[in-house]
Amino acid sequence: IELRELLLSRIKDVADYPKAGVVFKDITPLLADAEAFGALTDALVDLCVRHRVTKVVGLEARGFILGAPVAVRANVGFVPVRKAGKLPGATLGQAYELEYGTAEIEIHADALTPGDRVLVIDDVLATGGTAEASLQLVRRAGGEVAGLAVLLELGFLNGRERLAAELKDAPLEAL
Ligand code: 5GP
Repeated sequence: IELRELLLSRIKDVADYPKAGVVFKDITPLLADAEAFGALTDALVDLCVRHRVTKVVGLEARGFILGAPVAVRANVGFVPVRKAGKLPGATLGQAYELEYGTAEIEIHADALTPGDRVLVIDDVLATGGTAEASLQLVRRAGGEVAGLAVLLELGFLNGRERLAAELKDAPLEAL
């Protein structure tokens, strides 16, 4: 409860961003606060230990910021999932639906080894499209999904329901 209050107090609502009618959850105040960013990192490292994670996968771009210190502290490797066209090596790609049109994300084809237990980290779970495609990529790259962790879940967008099939028995942790 204390952690939740601390984290929530450092997330700012920004009206009409990126477009009219949308309330954007801005996590930059949390990143700028050493106590809050540290407490979030600690909680994510705990998840890595509890679920015997061997790789952290961070989703571009804020999942990089949150995931990298977790990987270092948990003493496991960090693997980026990027927007299509940004990774230099051989990649696996996954397209997913947006409100208007589609997007595609990629992972390096050799980034995971069979038996890797992966914690996927992002800042915000909204519709779940990004997370769903990432879980698919992790599995296609040979990893086992140990869990999905987000700072904030926007419950009214029902991302959790959308992810149920792809998560299977893996936990979705919203801190
Ligand atoms: P989804 O695919 O679940 O609809 O959207 C989640 C992705 O969009 C995440 O990568 C997340 O970073 C970004 N996103 C969507 N809404 C917000 C928001 O209100 N605040 C932040 N910080 N990111 C958001």
